[in-house]
Amino acid sequence: MKTYIVANWKMYLNAEESFKTAEHIKANLTKRDNLELIVCPNALAFNGVRDILKDTVSYGAQNVAWTPLGAYTGAISALLFYQDGARYALVGHSERRYIFGEDNEAVRKKMNACIDTGLIPILCIGETHDDKEEEKQEYRIKKQLMKALEGLDLQGIVPLVAYEPVWAISNFGIGQPCDPEYANQMHAIIKKELTQYTDAAIPVLYGGSVDNNNIASYVARENINGVLVGSASTNGHVLLDLLDKGAQC
Ligand code: PEP
Repeated sequence: MKTYIVANWKMYLNAEESFKTAEHIKANLTKRDNLELIVCPNALAFNGVRDILKDTVSYGAQNVAWTPLGAYTGAISALLFYQDGARYALVGHSERRYIFGEDNEAVRKKMNACIDTGLIPILCIGETHDDKEEEKQEYRIKKQLMKALEGLDLQGIVPLVAYEPVWAISNFGIGQPCDPEYANQMHAIIKKELTQYTDAAIPVLYGGSVDNNNIASYVARENINGVLVGSASTNGHVLLDLLDKGAQC
C-alpha cells in the first residue's frame, strides 16, 4: 500500500500565502509512485492552488456540505468541490465536530454526499482527552466508525480513515504528543473494526502534531499508512522534508 500525506492547511494561510507555498512545492517536489500528497487549501485558495500545482498532487476539500446544489447560503458542496478538481474530502475532523458542533449524523450525511459525488472521504475519528482519561478511547472510535459506516453503500469507493486523537492536535488539543506505539495499537483496533463494514483494505492515517522530525516514527509502524498534517504542512520546506522522510519508510 502506498503512503498518504494529507496537508490540511486549515485557516492558517490566506490565498496569497497558499499560492506562495504551492509555488514552492511545485519548484521542489519530487514525484514518487509510493507516496500520494493530498493538499487541502481553504476554499478561497482552492482553484488558485490547483492551477499552480496542476496534476502533480491530489486535492482535498477541508469540509463539504451534504446537499449538492440549491438555496444553502454559505455552503460549498461535495459536488462543487468535485467539479473543481477535488478527489478527496475531510469528513468529521475534530475541529468540525467540537468547534462547529457537527454530530455523527452530520458526518454520516457528508459521507453519503462524498460517495454519491465520487469524492473519496477521509473520515477523521479520535478520542478526546476526557475519553482517554476515562479509558473510553476504543468505545469512542468504534462508535464514530459505526455511525459513519454501518449500512453505507460505498459504491466501490475506498475511503481513507484518519485516526486523530483530539488531545494530540496542535493548537486545538492539549498539545500532548501521541506515542507512536499507542497510535499503532489504535490503528490495529481500527483496522479490525473496519472489516465489519467492508472487505476493502482501507488505509488508516495518523494525525496529531506530526512534523518532519517525528513523521518516521509514525509511518514506520506496520498499521500506519500515512499521516494527516495540519500546522507543519503549511511551511513548504517542512512539507517537502516530511515527504522525503515519509518516502524513506
Ligand atoms: C489536523 O489537521 O488534523 C492535525 C492533525 O493538525 P496538526 O498537525 O496541526 O496537529
